[in-house]
Amino acid sequence: MTVPYRVTADVITAIDVARVTPRVRPELLVSGARGTHDESHFLLVRVTTRAGVQGLGEVSGTLTWSGEDGATAAHVIESTLAPALAGQPLAPVAALERRMDTVLAGSPFTKAGVATALWDAYARALDVPLAVALGGPVRSRVAVKCSLSGTGDRLRTALAAARAAGFTAHKLKVGLDVTRDAERLAELRELVGPEGFIGLDANGGYRRRDAARAIELFAPHTPAFLEQPVAPDDIEGMAALRGLGLCLVADESVFGMASLVRVLRADAADVVSLYIGKSGGPGRAVEMGRVAGALGSEVVIGSNGELGVGAAAQIQVACALDSLAEDFPHDIIGRHYYVDDVLSTPAMIADGVARLPDGPGLGIPLDDAVWSLFPG
Ligand SMILES: [Mg+2]
Repeated sequence: MTVPYRVTADVITAIDVARVTPRVRPELLVSGARGTHDESHFLLVRVTTRAGVQGLGEVSGTLTWSGEDGATAAHVIESTLAPALAGQPLAPVAALERRMDTVLAGSPFTKAGVATALWDAYARALDVPLAVALGGPVRSRVAVKCSLSGTGDRLRTALAAARAAGFTAHKLKVGLDVTRDAERLAELRELVGPEGFIGLDANGGYRRRDAARAIELFAPHTPAFLEQPVAPDDIEGMAALRGLGLCLVADESVFGMASLVRVLRADAADVVSLYIGKSGGPGRAVEMGRVAGALGSEVVIGSNGELGVGAAAQIQVACALDSLAEDFPHDIIGRHYYVDDVLSTPAMIADGVARLPDGPGLGIPLDDAVWSLFPG
């Protein structure tokens, strides 16, 4: 007689990591107020349990965002997080997240990579999609968009590459020079026509005075939103810009739950950009989405250039969230952003839509294509 599997009786036996450095497709290079990003230094995280359940996660961290990348994450996971989690029960995952907070300050993207692998293993153990383990799904399809940079030929090449990958909605990186940015917006509006979806992301690049002028200059070209016009800590500046005619999205101003509540209580954003990395994992991203909804806001899924594993987690979270802005396309780009992906079958994003896969956990195959990246 076999003993029935019980997720609460299973324990974590190993957490190991693999460095990956995917190259961004040159035509989709993002250049904005936070510099240019042409190669990602990410980390894959694998969780294994005593019963043989495995889960996969991705640390999609960059030094310019939170001071984390694959190298810092590998060090911290091997020295601190893996020893703290080894031997612990797989469920509840929230207890494992608290344990990570006890042994390691900050580092949300690193914790998010580990938490994604834990949630993936947990949902696979239950044999349900992660979106179900997170309390959903409330939808199975999510509209997506692709970021564009540059001007002239570079902008046209990026738009052509995005369209060839199936994207029909776009986000233009601005935040460097208001007058120039307005001209670039006019250029993109001309290219996509009056009905084309254009959002703007300044990545905190404007001073308050410039931001107010930017809204005035941008409005005639009907962008759907302006993301993070001013510095991340300038909550009052964000609040002062609301009501000037553009939907304001808070991105860098919101990392974890405390900053989310601070921004929404200050009426400093219409919509909040949630990342699994900023939140510290898929479970916490969903918690933050629910709190945002309770405070009257909607959320958009933002991106730090996730690879296939991170993109799969974005889709699961997006499909679990009631407060997702339904009329906004989300920043779920995954493999389309890179020359190569780490997954053998990452085809969940096509024709401008990300689809919830049927399988358990993240819904991606854990096969040799990905395990061969891990040493040993
Ligand atoms: Mg942003």
